[in-house]
Formats: sequence, structure tokens, C-alpha cells
Amino acid sequence: MFILNGIGLNNGLCLGKAHLIKIDDFNVEFNSIDKKKIKSEIDRFYKAIDKTINYIDTSIDSIESKFQKNELIALIAFNKLILKDPLIYEETPKIIKNHECNAEWALNNNLKLMIKNFEKIKDPYFKDRKKDVIDIVNKVMEVLLTAKKKIPNVTNKIIVTNNLSPYELLDLKKQNPKGLISATGSISSHIAIVAKNLNLPSIVGVKNATSLIRENDDVIIDSTLDSILINTDKNIKSFYVKKIKTFYSDIKKLEKIKRKKTLTLDKKRIYLRGTIDSPSEINKILNLNPDGIGLFRTEFLYEDANFSNTEKNHYKSYLSIAKKFKNKKVTFRTFDMGFDKNLNTKVDSPMGLRAVRYSLKNKDFFEIQMKSLLLVSLKFNINILVPFITSVQEVIEVRKIIKKVQNEISKKEKLRFKFKLGVMIEIPSTLFILEELSKLVDFFSIGTNDLIQFTLAADRNNADLNELSNPSHPAILKILQYLSLQSKKLNIPMSICGEVTNNIDFLKLLISYGFDDFSVSYSNFLSIKNSVLNLNFKALVAEYKKSNRYKINLLN
Ligand code: PEP
Ligand code: MG
Repeated sequence: MFILNGIGLNNGLCLGKAHLIKIDDFNVEFNSIDKKKIKSEIDRFYKAIDKTINYIDTSIDSIESKFQKNELIALIAFNKLILKDPLIYEETPKIIKNHECNAEWALNNNLKLMIKNFEKIKDPYFKDRKKDVIDIVNKVMEVLLTAKKKIPNVTNKIIVTNNLSPYELLDLKKQNPKGLISATGSISSHIAIVAKNLNLPSIVGVKNATSLIRENDDVIIDSTLDSILINTDKNIKSFYVKKIKTFYSDIKKLEKIKRKKTLTLDKKRIYLRGTIDSPSEINKILNLNPDGIGLFRTEFLYEDANFSNTEKNHYKSYLSIAKKFKNKKVTFRTFDMGFDKNLNTKVDSPMGLRAVRYSLKNKDFFEIQMKSLLLVSLKFNINILVPFITSVQEVIEVRKIIKKVQNEISKKEKLRFKFKLGVMIEIPSTLFILEELSKLVDFFSIGTNDLIQFTLAADRNNADLNELSNPSHPAILKILQYLSLQSKKLNIPMSICGEVTNNIDFLKLLISYGFDDFSVSYSNFLSIKNSVLNLNFKALVAEYKKSNRYKINLLN
């Protein structure tokens, strides 16, 4: 038996036989062609492009959900742009003409050039798109070579692949495979987006998966642990057979609690709101009936290749969310473009020009976002949350921008903007200026991810520092207790977001400290809610008061 790790998607589990789909590069030969046939060779190339566009347009017809379709439309638009890029669409015919050669060779040449150009790009998001370019150009190549790949039979199998395109995955899903393991892919890659939308238990970015896993190997995917177990012994296999059964029957059972108000057994109200990391999660979280949205990371709107920084785009996105969650609290966090967010900004460090720092240095950019949010606030009550605040001065500047934009919108008319302004408490400096900040804003939201990272000087993206990034470090626990007390003393609402809220054990501790408002991820939402429904608040406080994590004893 051996174990491989990657990036788990969909919080799913499955067990089955591996089916390998290795996709090798095309072996394209140079064939010289007669001068008289050049025109028809160029026509053949254009026809292949048209056929490919037709193929990608129809490939999404199989997806029933309108929402999932929308997400793929962005990918299709990007692929069409590639196919119509002058390097492909204009240069390939030129090469055919100049070299008097076959279309396949000309196209392959251009693909190599495009790949080289992509490799020069530093931005990780665009670098990641290299794979999309290869996928779509290979599709044209396939049409030219009329070498349609034999469709593999993956029914009830776990697909193990090195290079599957998102469209091919869509095709294969019709056969009901059990899961997917991909050697390539990151959390933002299109294969991951499609796998997530298809709700297929998947692990992506598993280096060398296709050489380490063999055809018909027994495979277990546990995406809750980001792990794949290969050829396990009988005991582990039967452990997983049971685990999978209870895992899915628990999920079914949890459906029943969706409509329930989140009250502990002794009727203490706890607010569980959704965290939205990507537009694709909005409908999924809506379906779970949360107490609103605790954190909408607006920077992720840029995940959609079609999203550009226009007022219309922002307004449309925010309005549709506010509408969907009307009468519930929705917190839009202004841009936190950051080092770790794969966006097209030049942030070279998690402590660099990110979030509110970027927004205040690029006021035109920030005003567009603010204006859109304020326009939405004319129709719905919303919360606007500003990330990465380190000083009072920054909040004053944000307030000035808000005032300026409000004046622009109202043009002497008396309008009622219905919003609350909050800041994130995620940088240790804010702990010492809470009182001053509380006079400028309506609420605080603790960003535990960064608070832990900066308090413990432990880069949250460095896997070697996992042990050090410990939420239970006495310093972090003391800070959280302090914040809970300050929230009461300063009479300002304080919610909590960040990964710790997805851990029920830690969430219980936070409840015992007096917090009651949490932003939780979609995939953990119902199981967290279920645990809270079964808590006895008074008993929990009494029990936790005795524990070391409550009476923080530094020698323990
Ligand atoms: C945090 O820092 O805890 C947080 C919620 O913000 P992000 O993870 O987006 O930095
Ligand atoms: Mg943060």
C-alpha cells in the first residue's frame, strides 16, 4: 500500500478501480504540400477551428444546472479567444503558405511559441492558463488529424489522468465515474472547477499519479484528507467501506436540519453564516439556508475570465447576491488581492501592497468597487468589510472615499445608504487600537488566518510550518479571549472568520469564550450546524472553564 497527496476537492470519499487515461503529445510530422493545394490546406485549418468551436459550444449542453453552465461559459469564452488569437488564427495560415506545409505542423509550431510566451508570465493565475491553451489547441489538432481518441470506459472507475481537458471530463462524467485523480491542476485550474461543479470526489495536482498508479489498482480517494490510498490491505479497505457509507448517510440526514434555526439545546442563538470564496459557491451555500454571508471574498470575482473592473460588473454581482440573501446579513469584503490569491497584481509578499493598501493606492479602482456597493446599499442592507487594516488613518481614508462616492451618487438628492462598515482584525497592531477603531466603524470581523500568521510569524502557505501555525497557541487563545471581552466592553459586534471556524472543536472553544457569530465554509456547514444544535451552552462553558485552553497556563 502507498499514499499520495494532492489538493482534495468536494469533501468526498470513494473507492474503486483505477482507469488510466494518459494523454501524450501529438507526434506531428512535417509534410510538404503542393503549391496548388495551399488554399485548400488553409481552408482545412479554418474548418478545424470552426468544428472545435462548435464542439466546445455544445459540450456544456449536457450540464443541467444553469449555474454550472455559467461558470463554464467563462472558460469557453477564453478558449474562443485563444482560437481566434492572431498567433493561431493568422500566423498558422502564413506558415502553411510560407513553408508550403501541412496545417498540423504549422499549428504545432505556433502552440510551442504560445507555450513559451506563457512560461515567461510570472503571474501564477495566467501561468496556470497555459494548460487551457494546450488543451484547446490539441483539440484542433485532434480534428485535423481526425484522430478522435477512443472514448475510454470509465463507468464506476476512478479516472487517473495526466492531462485531461475540462471538456473531456464533462464527456466522461456521463459515464458515471466514481472519482478523479489528476496529475495536473491547482485549486484554480479549470479541471478543478469542473470537477467541483460535477461534485466528483477528486484530488488534483498529484504529481506523477499516472506513473505511480497502475491500471486496475485499488484506489481510495479521501478528499477530506487530501489523500489517495492505493492497494490498501483488507482492514483499511473495510474501514473505508464503512466510513463511506456513514459519510454519505450522514450527509443525507443533515439535509433535515437545513431549515432549523441554529440554537443550542439550551436555546443559545449562534449565527452560522456562509463564507464565499468563489461565485460558484453562492447557490450551494444559499441552498444550506445559512444566517447570511459572513465573508464574501470579492477578489474571487476575478476568477471569472470575463470579469473586468467595471461598475456594471461589480454592481450586477453584488446586487444578485444581496437579492438572493435578502433580509439576511451579507458581508462583502472589499478587495484583498494578495500574494496568495493568484490574481493579476504585483504583490510579492503577504506583507506587501495588498488589500486596503492596494485599494488606497489605486483609488480609481477602489472607488468603482465602493460605488457599486453603495448603489446596492440603496436597495438592500449590506455590510462592507475592509481587510488588512493596520491603522486608524487607513479607516479615515476609507471613510473619505465612501463620503466622496456617496456625494457623487446623490448629487444633492437625499438618499439613504443602508450599510454598515466594518474592519478585519487580522493584523496584531489593531489589537492595540481597538477602542479608536470602534469609534469609526460599526463592526469587527476577526480574520483568524492572518491573525495567526502574523502573530506567530508563520507563513500560512508554507506546509513546513503547519505545526507552528497553531490556533491553540496560548498567545492566540489569549488574543481571542481579549477580543471577546473588548467586544462587550466597547459594545461592538465581533464575528469570526478564517479556517478555524470549520473545526468544531475549536468553534466550541470560541463559543465558550463568548463568540456567537461565525462564517463557515460551504463543505463543513451542515456538520458544524449539527454539532452546534447538539451543544449545551451552559455545560460547555462550565466544562471549558476547567480546561487549560480557557485558563491559559503557559507552562502546560
Ligand atoms: C483571514 O485572514 O482569516 C481571512 C478570513 O481572510 P483571508 O483568508 O482571505 O486572508
Ligand atoms: Mg486575511
